[in-house]
Amino acid sequence: MNESAHVAEEVFLGLGSNQGDRLGELRRAAAALAAHARLELTAWSRIWETEPVGPEVQDAFLNACVAVRTDLSPLELLDELKRQEAAAGRAPGSHLKPRPIDLDILLFGGQVIAVGRLAVPHPELRNRAFVLEPLAEIAGTIRLPDSGETIDEACAKIRRKAGPWVRLYDGGDLQTQVPGANKEERGAALALYRR
Ligand code: ADP
Ligand code: MG
Repeated sequence: MNESAHVAEEVFLGLGSNQGDRLGELRRAAAALAAHARLELTAWSRIWETEPVGPEVQDAFLNACVAVRTDLSPLELLDELKRQEAAAGRAPGSHLKPRPIDLDILLFGGQVIAVGRLAVPHPELRNRAFVLEPLAEIAGTIRLPDSGETIDEACAKIRRKAGPWVRLYDGGDLQTQVPGANKEERGAALALYRR
């Protein structure tokens, strides 16, 4: 299949960080996505601070969601996200452990995907307020392709359950220039400012 065989899809990604300069990591990830030749960053949520889940004591996460349009295939996009995680210094196998950046594919157009290393919609989406709250800000009326419920409906359900806390973060947002970014990334960050 050649590269142009894929029609551009609207994709929603989850970003999370609980290690190092958490806000800087989220901003760098957003700028790197915006700078990618085959990704267009079209929307982004506010940043939420959220309670870590898992067996280990660890710092709170910052979480956000972004919308991108891309003609990458789902697996090409997953590879690109894994590449960016590794570039940020994330150790392999840090599932439920502290990580400088976690990049997940939440929704990929209306596709339902279940191959070995990729499940879309993200299987934990409905159970995680730290994903649904920021996602609802930019995709509230979008329907989950498997169940048909909207993100707003899924978010309302999770609010009724007692779960890990989530709150809006007031220390900054994704719309800023990235310190130390190269020229290409600066251009992308400035594009973020203009919206
Ligand atoms: P988590 O995000 O749950 O903490 P990881 O980021 O460590 O877990 O990812 C573990 C594996 O999950 C990845 O290597 C990837 O192949 C797989 N995976 C399955 N579905 C998705 C998805 N929708 N988005 C990102 N990774 C996924
Ligand atoms: Mg992940």
